[in-house]
Amino acid sequence: MVQKYGGTSVGDAARIRAVADHIVRTAKSGKDVVVVVSAMGKTTDDLLRLAGDVSSVHPPREMDMLLTAGERVSMALMCMALADLGIDAVSFTGSQAGIITDTIHGKARILEVRGDRIREALAAGRVAVVAGFQGVSTDRDVTTLGRGGSDTTAVALAAGLAASSCEIYTDVTGVFSADPRIVPGAAKLARLSFDEMLEIAATGGRVLALRSVEFARNHHVPLQVRSSFTWEAGTTIDEEEPSMEQPLVTAVTHDTSEAKITLPTVPDKPGIAAKLFHGLAGKSINVDMIVQNSSLHGTTDISFTLPKADLQAGMQVVEELASEIGAEPPQADDGIAKVSLIGAGMRTHPGISATMFEVLAANGINIEMISTSPIRISCVVRVGAVEQAVLALHAAFDLEEDGTGN
Ligand code: ADP
Ligand code: ASP
Ligand code: MG
Repeated sequence: MVQKYGGTSVGDAARIRAVADHIVRTAKSGKDVVVVVSAMGKTTDDLLRLAGDVSSVHPPREMDMLLTAGERVSMALMCMALADLGIDAVSFTGSQAGIITDTIHGKARILEVRGDRIREALAAGRVAVVAGFQGVSTDRDVTTLGRGGSDTTAVALAAGLAASSCEIYTDVTGVFSADPRIVPGAAKLARLSFDEMLEIAATGGRVLALRSVEFARNHHVPLQVRSSFTWEAGTTIDEEEPSMEQPLVTAVTHDTSEAKITLPTVPDKPGIAAKLFHGLAGKSINVDMIVQNSSLHGTTDISFTLPKADLQAGMQVVEELASEIGAEPPQADDGIAKVSLIGAGMRTHPGISATMFEVLAANGINIEMISTSPIRISCVVRVGAVEQAVLALHAAFDLEEDGTGN
């Protein structure tokens, strides 16, 4: 089985010993255990800050060298804690574990999981401890998998090694109906489908990294999200069963990590959008929402959202295109946030968006962009209003612990 422990779970020496204790219990029950660890506490953020203090130039290859160091510390300390408890454990970097990725530093994609050394360690009766969030590229450079990427390491290893289960241990007791830090009355969800979890992860519910959920769905790896503090039963994420009860709304999520770019007065003719989004894709920029109005006098506006971290690179692409096609200069806006409703039952129930818009209106919150999928509705609002929006929607759809859940 694969067990992944997040940053807070291994945040200090006492936490590492507590986790080691739990691993020993699992190993002694006769299971082959592969452990994936994140960097301790806020280590990754601290390393990022340090890079900023040292230089304004951050070559992507060197950033990945730097950031992968955090997980290396955790894996070595975890093996020492396990040794202290009489368990033979051996640590592996992503590269040593045979996690092969593409060459996109900072958000590399896993191409293959070889795992030979892990299999050898397990066959020798040892616990394998793997550094999360990293791999080695087809160009033999160390890469990272994007923030929260240790989740992806865990799921990829579970798939590659055909593990019987994949447990993600974190600092909350499962996936909740909203971020418990914002909504204290949020309810723990016992079970979710991959599709719902994908939407939750894609819209800011950072309890699982989006790529890890994509990987789990594509490779049929059921996930358990649990607490490394209480060890109680958490949330199961797996395939949707036909009989599975489908609540109208399962969760409210929010995301403050995106920004918006608007390109005004674009000539309304074929090929412009293609050029724009081709240019953005060429820089590996993930565009989320896109809005284009129908034109009134031969020109139109295109707005889209993208990660704040990519705002500068995105503006460069759009500015070049704007001068090429004679459009007005584009505008950047980093004061936005997105609030979303997710629920498998939305597929068959119209009218949920109307209720959502009414709740936002009643709270005086203006909607700037809207997008939907069969099981999600998202609205872009001002960042200052997003917490109020989450609280109001969570209450309006009766999602509290003791609510009826529709
Ligand atoms: P880890 O370091 O274990 O990977 P993360 O900080 O990445 O932990 O993810 C856990 C955090 O996700 C929780 O502390 C919680 O604040 C946040 N979170 C956001 N949305 C949700 C949600 N819907 N359910 C549970 N946790 C959520
Ligand atoms: N340490 C990395 C991060 O902070 C990866 C992870 O924790 O999953 O994003
Ligand atoms: Mg995480």
